[in-house]
Parts: sequence; C-alpha cells; structure tokens
Amino acid sequence: MSYSHYISTRGGISGVDFLSAVMMGLADDGGLLLPAALPDYSANLSSWRGLSYLDLAVAVMQPFIGPALPESSLRALLQRSYSTFADPAVVPVIQLSPGLYLAELFHGPTLAFKDIALQFLGHLFEYILQHHGGSLNILGATSGDTGSAAIHGVRGKAGINIFIMYPEGRVSPLQERQMATVPDANVHCLALRGTFDDCQRVLKEVFNDLPFKRQYSLGAVNSVNWARILAQVVYYFWAAFRVQDLCGNRTAVQFAVPTGNFGDIFAGYLAKRMGAPVRRLILATNQNDILYRFFQTGEYRIGTVSPTLSPSMDIQVASNFERYLYYLLDCDPAAVRAAMAQFSQHGSLSLPHFDSPDFVAGRANTAETLAAIRDTYQSSRYVLDPHTAVAVHAATPFLDPAVPTICLATAHPGKFPAAIAEALGPTVRTSHPALDSLQQLPLRKTILDPECSRVQDFLTRALCP
Ligand SMILES: *Cc1c(COP(=O)(O)O)cnc(C)c1O
Repeated sequence: MSYSHYISTRGGISGVDFLSAVMMGLADDGGLLLPAALPDYSANLSSWRGLSYLDLAVAVMQPFIGPALPESSLRALLQRSYSTFADPAVVPVIQLSPGLYLAELFHGPTLAFKDIALQFLGHLFEYILQHHGGSLNILGATSGDTGSAAIHGVRGKAGINIFIMYPEGRVSPLQERQMATVPDANVHCLALRGTFDDCQRVLKEVFNDLPFKRQYSLGAVNSVNWARILAQVVYYFWAAFRVQDLCGNRTAVQFAVPTGNFGDIFAGYLAKRMGAPVRRLILATNQNDILYRFFQTGEYRIGTVSPTLSPSMDIQVASNFERYLYYLLDCDPAAVRAAMAQFSQHGSLSLPHFDSPDFVAGRANTAETLAAIRDTYQSSRYVLDPHTAVAVHAATPFLDPAVPTICLATAHPGKFPAAIAEALGPTVRTSHPALDSLQQLPLRKTILDPECSRVQDFLTRALCP
C-alpha cells in the first residue's frame, strides 16, 4: 500500500494519501510529492498489452490511489476525461518512417498533450470537492498554452472557479481565443497590461497574501501536481505496446520527449523504473537548454530564457527536476535539501560523478526545428508541430535499427501557424476544425493593470456578487 502513501523530496512530509497529495500540489515543506515506493509492473505487461487506453489507465493508476478513491470512481473520472478526445484510441500511435513512430498526444480539447493530465485533474478536483466539501478558486498565470488546458479541464465544474492571467497583446491571437471564448461562468480571463513576468509577479503577490489566499480558497494548477505526472505515466506503457504490436515483436523501445518543466519525461522515467519496456529516454530541449546541459555535464546551471518557436518549452528552471534529483541522490531528503539550497543560492548545482544510463539528450535551435518540420513533410507528408519537431531532431543521432524510437507528439501543428508557414510556406494548411470554430465566438476577458490589488478586487467581486 505504500504506493498510495506520499512523501516529500525534502523529507518534511510523509504518510499523505493520494487525495491530500493532489490538494497539496507543492509539498508544504517546499519539496515535491512522490509515492513512498514504486510498484514493479513487469509481470503485468503481457496481460496489459491488450487493454484499451481507459482500462490500462485504471490498471496503471489504481495502486497509486489506494482506498482514497474506489476503482469504480477512478474509472468513471477517467472515462469522462478521455471521452472529450477526438480519437477513439485517445493516443493514436503512427509510423513516420522505418523505426520511427509518433505517439499523438494532442487529440484533447485544446490540441496539446497537457489535456491528458488536466482533463483528469479537473474531474478529480470536482470529485474531491463533492465528497469532502469546500470550493476551489484556481488562479494561474500563463504565457499561452497551459492556461487553455487548465481552463478546459475545469470549465463548468461545480465548486470551482478559474482565473487565468496573461499578458494583454502578448499571447498569440489563437491562444487568446482558446482561453477567452470559453463561455462557462466559472472561467475568468484576465488580460494584464504588462508582460508575462508581470503576471507571474502578481500571481506570487496574491498567493503571498495568506489571509486572502485562505479566505478565498485559492489553489494553483501548477505542473508539479502529482496527479498530472501519474496520468502521464500511462501513455508510455500504451505507446510501447502499440509499437511492439506494429513491429510484431517485443523489443524495448526508446522515447524522444520534448521537454520544458521535466514533467512529461519524468513520467517516462517512472514508467521505466516500474518495468515498462523502455530502453532509454531521449530528452529534447530547444535553445533553453538547462536540462540538455545537465545531461551532458552533470551541472544544473540556470541560464536566461529566450523565446523560440516552441514556446511551451521556454523554461530555464524545470520545476519537476527535483523529483528526478531525489532518485539520483538515492532517495535521501537531506541530500536533496542541500542540493536545492545550493541551487537557490548560487543558481547552479553539480553532481560530480553523474552518469545516467536512462537518458541521453539532444537540442534543436530554430533552424534545426524548421528543418525537421520541412524534412519530415518532404519524406512523409506529415506536419510536425514545432515542439514535436525538436524531439524528432534530437532523436536523429540516437536512431538505432534494433530499438524502435517513439517521439511524443505534444501539440497539433494548427496551434502554431506562423512556425509552420515559416517552415513549409503559406500553402500547406494545418487548420483544425476546433481552432477554426473559435474565430466566430465572442471574446470574454477583462483588461486590468498588472497590480495585486486590481486582481484581488476582481476576485472579490466575482466570488461575492
Ligand atoms: C508543456 C509542453 C511541453 C513540455 O512539457 P513538460 O512537461 O513541461 O516538459 C512540450 N510540448 C508542448 C506542446 C507543451 O505544451
């Protein structure tokens, strides 16, 4: 049962059950939550390979949830989460070229992989509030993509309001439409007159006002929530099985994963530890390459963020990295505390004899990303989105005829029309009906000055009419 008991990477929390871990988000001691132990699923593989995505998700996730949520309820939540996906397989896996496959994670309502976790998290929050009472007011800041997946996860849910701040005029028109055309009364889009940094500053200030935070039950939908990682473990098993079916044998596969906060690829690392048939993970970054540099040198050193064609990976401090560090440091919370203290003081930490058999790393700059989109289109008539293109580029030197490679396709190309036009010219259409229909809908947003008091006033009025 220790799979459903959670501890903090920093040692200040232990024995927390699944639902408390979900509501806690970030651990109260500043660390990240992890299960106290990991199951070994290797004996389950042959019975799991024939399961539907839904059945597989129940099987993989249930041991981590334990008695906190009965299996029938978990199944119902997952069923509702994935019924919004356009493809009946949930995550279709296709062959791109000999030995190279794509797992399409973008068939959810916002056409990006974050839907897989955030659709589930939204239903889970609603379940927890219904069974344990209370309400939740989610406040978030987004530079584009996470905001829409979070909004679509909780729109229309009882007991939940969501307030998403973004910089007015600085997200793409399509990204704004994905957020601000959602008609549900519990969705509030706040366009702040400022930059994304202003949005993050205001977010911090509002959360630091503890009496306000408590009075209004404020919560976050940050990428460190354990439920998000857990939902993502499933598709590593799923995609490996599908490729083994396509190949007609049971060789282990490797995954190439476009990475920002190290959440998605960390789920792959857990799947591998739990016995998924994964040979290794290919970590892929854009020019914001702190993780690439770490896997080359063992030094994790912060750099400056530069904007790229793959904006959801424009991150220099990967919020889930601490979870991996915990395993690297032999599950020793004191060592994690020391390493993280070193990092926050000096902006770097180093592991002297670092060597990881589980990972290799690659990165792609703008020209390489565009070339990957162009080359793939020319050879296969498949349009990669710019995030997936980073992974395809990074995988190239590691392709191995004996090991099938699966690139995680994290977004639909129609979300990034400017990058696609730059790579393929204006004639290749990548539109998607879900994006086209947004053009007709009215925008619902409130423009505010980027000040804590303005945002607090807005929340107060929205929550106490
Ligand atoms: C968020 C995101 C990523 C990066 O995922 P992490 O879990 O932060 O590593 C990659 N691609 C797309 C399209 C995303 O939205």
